[in-house]
Amino acid sequence: MDFYNPSLGHQFISGQQVRGQGPLLQRVSPATGELLLEVDTASIEQVDQAVEAAAQAYTTWSALTPGERSDHLLAFARELEVHAAELAQVETAQTGKSIRMSTEFDVPGTIDNVNFFAGAARNLQGLATGDYAGNTTSMIRREAIGVIGSISPWNYPLQMAAWKVLPAIAAGNTIVLKPSELTPGTSMLFAKAAKDAGLPDGVINVICGDGPTVGSALVRHRLVKMTSFTGSTAVGLKIMSMAAERGNRVHLELGGKAPFVVFDDADIEAAAHGAVAGSTINAGQDCTAATRAYVHSSVFEKFTSRVSQLMESMVVGDPSDPNTDMGSLISEAHLEKVSAMVERAQQDGARVLAGGRREERAGFYYRPTLLVGATQDSEIVQDEVFGPVLVALPFDTDQEAIDLANDTPYGLAASAWTKNVDRAMMASAQIQAGCVWINEHILIVSDMPHGGYKASGMGKDMSQYSFDEYTNVKHVMLSHDPASHRGWQDTVFKE
Ligand code: NAD
Repeated sequence: MDFYNPSLGHQFISGQQVRGQGPLLQRVSPATGELLLEVDTASIEQVDQAVEAAAQAYTTWSALTPGERSDHLLAFARELEVHAAELAQVETAQTGKSIRMSTEFDVPGTIDNVNFFAGAARNLQGLATGDYAGNTTSMIRREAIGVIGSISPWNYPLQMAAWKVLPAIAAGNTIVLKPSELTPGTSMLFAKAAKDAGLPDGVINVICGDGPTVGSALVRHRLVKMTSFTGSTAVGLKIMSMAAERGNRVHLELGGKAPFVVFDDADIEAAAHGAVAGSTINAGQDCTAATRAYVHSSVFEKFTSRVSQLMESMVVGDPSDPNTDMGSLISEAHLEKVSAMVERAQQDGARVLAGGRREERAGFYYRPTLLVGATQDSEIVQDEVFGPVLVALPFDTDQEAIDLANDTPYGLAASAWTKNVDRAMMASAQIQAGCVWINEHILIVSDMPHGGYKASGMGKDMSQYSFDEYTNVKHVMLSHDPASHRGWQDTVFKE
């Protein structure tokens, strides 16, 4: 039997793949526009069952040694490797992204994340050694929080499942994940692979459904101790206020509007390539995608003409064809949104140098697009498009470039292109973002943190830093000489 059989359901509760008892959702193929599958969704009772399963599993899972949890995660990574090809196919079918992306980026990135946290689980750190009057020793315990409710978006369903689940369970928590209702397949398979690798039932549970019903029931569940969320800033703020009703912790990875700053001494050919790859990756549906190119006016013409030439050469089409550079957008509604934003930008005075139109074929395709002539305060420069659209604007001084780069509500990622080390260090210090690349854009590694400033969120995915989200830090103090009453007790009273 195939690893993925959608008719068996998109819920994974206490080690069992089951069909949801909520409403059925029709999912259209983004690549063809035809019906792809009917997605079963969880009932509120099933949300409750999943959280109860996670709560029950927590007692034993959190009591394992880090080494035992690490062994489970290593086996999990090996199981994912066995199913790599099918995971890539399901990811491409449900998102419309090119099979090259799924095969060479999403699946290996996910497996690397699982392997990273298998190691990191054995390295939970505490950064303190306290001593009071030479009479005590302090130590730090990092303790799991409990059941984590996690909500993820549709753009990288498999990698987002890994980013949410791995640090949580490596630290001893258990989890209920709600993937986007548009792309539930690979998140469910992710949980299934964990079960096949021998992870105890209930450690990873998946429920599928819409945000307002199933998602909010998860956030508000009485046994959920923390919500980790990746998605839009608007929904992230709702999650924050729901979690606040019960005083729960949140970890939010939200939208972005990454600047791409090209100084006059940059390698323009490398920058142009970086801009095209960085703005069209995943059809631009990437929170760190390059969206605003600020280019020194002396190299503006050279940079924009090369970018538009490269964009026009891109192969947009059938995601399952290995020769395709860029697949489809996620849905018809999203295609309409991207297309309308580019049209409004043109009405506001922007000019199209490349793309600016749909790819004429069935499915939801949009050509890689380069715009110039937009103003800094316009919608296309300020708001997230989440499509393959790059806007280029000129600047004249280094300070102007930094000020423009910082001038949106977002602060997730940015890049600066220069051969001058002073400029590189100045830009990395002054740009307000959770990641600043120098002569690079997009590259993310499991060992380093990912997370935003400002409206792009709070907290970190990946790396050892993610354990700050998924653990409580406990100070334990031991007195060496309790009978002496030395120090502070004599200040309070003397016998
Ligand atoms: P979205 O905010 O619409 O949905 C994200 C998830 O939230 C989905 O699972 C959805 O069902 C759920 N949801 C929606 N309303 C909800 C509610 N009221 N209560 C509970 N859950 C609810 O985002 P999307 O359209 O799926 O993804 C695109 C967005 O995600 C973009 O803004 C992008 O920048 C962001 N994103 C950020 C990162 C990051 O690391 N910062 C990574 C990927 C995507």
